Amino acid sequence: MLFEKKNCPECGSRYDVVEPTCPTCGKRDENFEQYKIPSNLLWLPIYKQILLFVIGLVGLNVVGFIVEIFAILMPEGTFSEAGYTTFVNTARYVIVFIGMLALIWKDFPKFRRFFDRAKPYLLGLAGGAAILAANILLNLITQAIYPTPENTNQQTVDSVITAFPIISIFVIGLIGPAVEELTYRLGLYTFLRRINKPVAYIVTSIIFGLIHFDFFAGTATGYIIELVNLPTYIVVGFLFCLWYEKFGLASSIVAHQFNNLFSILMTVISNLVK
Ligand SMILES: [Zn+2]
Repeated sequence: MLFEKKNCPECGSRYDVVEPTCPTCGKRDENFEQYKIPSNLLWLPIYKQILLFVIGLVGLNVVGFIVEIFAILMPEGTFSEAGYTTFVNTARYVIVFIGMLALIWKDFPKFRRFFDRAKPYLLGLAGGAAILAANILLNLITQAIYPTPENTNQQTVDSVITAFPIISIFVIGLIGPAVEELTYRLGLYTFLRRINKPVAYIVTSIIFGLIHFDFFAGTATGYIIELVNLPTYIVVGFLFCLWYEKFGLASSIVAHQFNNLFSILMTVISNLVK
């Protein structure tokens, strides 16, 4: 458990046990190493970690709902079906992403050294490739055991990519993964990591799997397809946690973006071949 506070020997102020230096006087904690706290935890105050998770989970849907009301009020025929989905998704992800950046902006300078070097990004690319391979392998295994068509999530994504490839690269390939990493890794995982590592891994992976599960699939077949695909999403979520824990946020964002960009590329290529 890393929820305690400790006393500064220099100025006596009480501060978060995960901080290596006193925020009041700047005195370094000589016994800091004993806590074995990974540098990933040294990011944000706890309440901001919780807020990131809430914004990413609930805020994204609330903003989406408001944008949908706005879209419905537009004159009939403004949007095609894919155009409507793209408009709502672009608006909600961009708005939430800006909101999240505003939330962490002040804390960022303290931790920018994690983003200043090339290494985390290169490790992110390598991780992205490894996670992609794992994802493809899991899909092959799942399809061998229980062959199903694509799940609803993937079908919607495909129609959007086909109609708007450039916006898709931007929203599904770059912003979406960044928002999900801020929500589930910097938010949820980092918070749970204070309880302990296994809890953080397990809970984050399962919730990550469940947000990709369509609870409104409607038909029995629809739910079966969702259930069959669930383990893959959970494992992929686990691997993003692993990359975040080992190499930091820049790495897990790049790994996630790599996966989404690759699947966009595959959809575009398969359309060109058709
Ligand atoms: Zn102090």
